[in-house]
Amino acid sequence: MSLTVISHPLAAHVVTHLRDKTTKPATFRTLTYELTVLLALEATRNLSTTSKDIETPLESLTGSVLARQPLVVVPILRAGLGMVQPFLDMFPDVSVGYIGLERDHETAVARSYYCKLPQLAGRHVFLVDPMLATGGSAVKALDVLKKNGATDIVLLSIVSAPEGVSAVEQAHPGVPILTAALDRELNARKYIMPGLGDFGDRLYGT
Ligand code: URA
Repeated sequence: MSLTVISHPLAAHVVTHLRDKTTKPATFRTLTYELTVLLALEATRNLSTTSKDIETPLESLTGSVLARQPLVVVPILRAGLGMVQPFLDMFPDVSVGYIGLERDHETAVARSYYCKLPQLAGRHVFLVDPMLATGGSAVKALDVLKKNGATDIVLLSIVSAPEGVSAVEQAHPGVPILTAALDRELNARKYIMPGLGDFGDRLYGT
């Protein structure tokens, strides 16, 4: 099983406030930032480091710093945009690609309307999609990433449904999925239950 649900009291705290329907967009964006930091820490656990000699104010020390390694974060538009800034802040050299997929509200089928990607071959790629519902968008985005040369991809979502996890595991068994919450199921309109509603709408107040 390639699914990891991050288990941390702060993650549970933040997800609960995200779910709360009284949480306003400005707070929702801050909470999304915080959760993405927690997910990104887990997703980057195995990045390479090199040693570095420094002087502290008290003595010499051989420390450890991140090795130069190309990272790419790819949000699925539009909701994934809320998960990009933590990557930019923590990894200043990260490149950003964009995949625009929108879900037809009646059929729940993903439709591509935009794709702009940096070089992906040989790079660590982080696909960010806050709500892994049917998995249709994530599977399509993973298809696109692989077609464009990506071989090392992690999918980060904030809330996932079992249906979406299964769909990604079936179509892309080698792709690890990191999530902050695994919810019960999808409802008839393909919303995650209990979920938090439409992530993009809550992020941008639409
Ligand atoms: N996308 C959302 O924003 N919310 C859901 O519950 C499912 C998909």
